[in-house]
Amino acid sequence: MNHCIFCKIINGELPAHRVYEDEQVLAFMDISPINHGHVLIIPKVHYSELRSIPLATSIAVWKVVKKVEYAIWQTPDLVCDGTNILQNNGAAAGQEVFHAHFHVIPRREGDGSRFGFKTVNSSDQVRKDWAAKIKDQIDAA
Ligand code: AMP
Ligand code: ZN
Repeated sequence: MNHCIFCKIINGELPAHRVYEDEQVLAFMDISPINHGHVLIIPKVHYSELRSIPLATSIAVWKVVKKVEYAIWQTPDLVCDGTNILQNNGAAAGQEVFHAHFHVIPRREGDGSRFGFKTVNSSDQVRKDWAAKIKDQIDAA
């Protein structure tokens, strides 16, 4: 029994306003948009987070992110002055639906939305050390 709301949207158990779909990917309107035109893009197979998605599938998803982002700039009356591509992994990062997804969010000058990010103190040495540790993992993958 799959209780995932995005899987239910994929299989038609829950309604959604679809803007694009192909064999591997579905794009639909976010039910609680940050701005008009806020679209979610998901793989049709359930993966909870970005790191679980096989590379070929993630490329298919990214192609649709690009397609939707382009369309949003072209859409009459949407007033798109910019876009944010947002992808949250894990509750600590604000993920609420654990079926991996990308947000494409149209932005308007002065729309008042902003991310609540702050920065940490980091010296050049600290950044150098983290770079080396992350690079080790990239090389090991
Ligand atoms: P996240 O915080 O990245 O997991 O984002 C989850 C997003 O899914 C939020 O922007 C919600 O508004 C959106 N959402 C939740 N339920 C639905 C639904 N039934 N149809 C469309 N979007 C949804
Ligand atoms: Zn799912």
